[in-house]
Amino acid sequence: MASHLSAPYFHNEEAAYAFVEARLWPNGAVCPHCGEAKRVGRMGGKATRIGAHKCYACRKQFTVKVGTVFESSHVPMHLWLQAFYLICGSKKGISSNQLHRILGVTLKTAWFMSHRIREAMRDGAMFAFGSEGGAVEADETFIGREPGEKGVKAAKSRGFHHKMKVLSLVDRASGQARSFVVDHVDTATILPIVRENVAKEARLMTDEGRWYWPIGREFADHQKVFHSHDEYVRGEAHTNTVEGFFSIFKRGMRGIYQHCGKQHLHRYLAEFDFRYSNRKALGIGDSERADIALLGVRGKRLTYQTARA
Ligand SMILES: [Zn+2]
Repeated sequence: MASHLSAPYFHNEEAAYAFVEARLWPNGAVCPHCGEAKRVGRMGGKATRIGAHKCYACRKQFTVKVGTVFESSHVPMHLWLQAFYLICGSKKGISSNQLHRILGVTLKTAWFMSHRIREAMRDGAMFAFGSEGGAVEADETFIGREPGEKGVKAAKSRGFHHKMKVLSLVDRASGQARSFVVDHVDTATILPIVRENVAKEARLMTDEGRWYWPIGREFADHQKVFHSHDEYVRGEAHTNTVEGFFSIFKRGMRGIYQHCGKQHLHRYLAEFDFRYSNRKALGIGDSERADIALLGVRGKRLTYQTARA
């Protein structure tokens, strides 16, 4: 059996462009400058760069990279496709260091590529979780170090206050996860996020955290399990699904990424949300997952300055 990475578009630049064009322009090339879809043509000639198109409406040139996370990147498209495949296909992610070694690009380039790919993975779909009365699990986890907070001694007296805080929602029916970096674990912080992402008719599943109690009243039902009383499952009341998500996230952040600054945490969460929401158990294989991520490159430019900030 041939390796998945032996496909021509992973090695040949023209094949790579053809692959990306077929996905981003399923009905033919569209001018990113003026939106023209008819009077556009591929430019010929030996000196023409790969993928160059001309718009006869606005007279401008373009490639499929314009207006996507690929824009202004000098990394060959076939290496981008390898990077998409590798990040999408590994359960806990791939470090920039590993990407740098596999692709033969500099470490800085590998770091930037992986952040752009995370940007492509960021979900634009905002359908409400728990529609038609479905169950939605909500839970929070703590990771790394909150900026400005001191070390372990302070931690002992203040619980998880010194760590960065993550709120995740999992829609049991669709198997999708959505995660958020939050500054505080309290009702005032969490309520607007849950309101925005969960349907009123949903049945909310949480642990006994008091901050969820007023939130739960806004939904059709709110089931709590009391972990402090050693209660983890009571019928359909549990948070095991979202905890399963957290365990993959934490293993990845500890083992592969060795933690990150708070300014980057939302992008790592987008990566873990994406892989979880497009996982094998939902019938999505590695190639299809990379294809789905590729569709997310549109309309998401990320400059090096923005990524570093
Ligand atoms: Zn045009």
